[in-house]
Amino acid sequence: MDPIRIHIAPELFAPAESSHFEGIAEWPILKAGPDLYSFDEPIRWSVEVTNTGDAFLVTGTAEVLAKTSCARCLDEVSLPLFGEIEGYYLIDPQDSAPEDMDEDEFEYLPADHSIDVSPLIQAALLLEVPYVPLCKDDCKGLCPECGANLNEGPCGCEQSKEEDIATNPFAALKDLKFDNEG
Ligand SMILES: [Zn+2]
Ligand SMILES: [Zn+2]
Repeated sequence: MDPIRIHIAPELFAPAESSHFEGIAEWPILKAGPDLYSFDEPIRWSVEVTNTGDAFLVTGTAEVLAKTSCARCLDEVSLPLFGEIEGYYLIDPQDSAPEDMDEDEFEYLPADHSIDVSPLIQAALLLEVPYVPLCKDDCKGLCPECGANLNEGPCGCEQSKEEDIATNPFAALKDLKFDNEG
């Protein structure tokens, strides 16, 4: 994805100063684990950059309607995503890590005073996507035998299996598991 740079103007270097930035981002695809999300519209983002004295705190939101496939039936799923952006950029490159922060919770302000907010937008949206995207909580998925979408009704596979069992009792045996008594 392309960088989205915001430039920290000289007047923002005074403690407690803050400034607002916003824009749109056109991303073709967002990868979340095994799932791919696509967008028919640009991602809308806005951030507030605040000088905390030691660092620039970047907070804001990223919003978009995302599309992906249901993990069970492969139908298209539309998900409104509303993510919270948060970033922390130490101003002095000599400063050591803040005591209450892990390595991955802060960065240093680049020498050119421009911050690429695209990784923050990506992280904000990734926190909002479901672990397993589903078209509905009780999606019945696809029939493992014929591939029919079971949300649209029974495909007949289960029924014909039952008919098999009715006419041939031994057909049921192939589904049974026997404990090893030995
Ligand atoms: Zn589904
Ligand atoms: Zn079937």
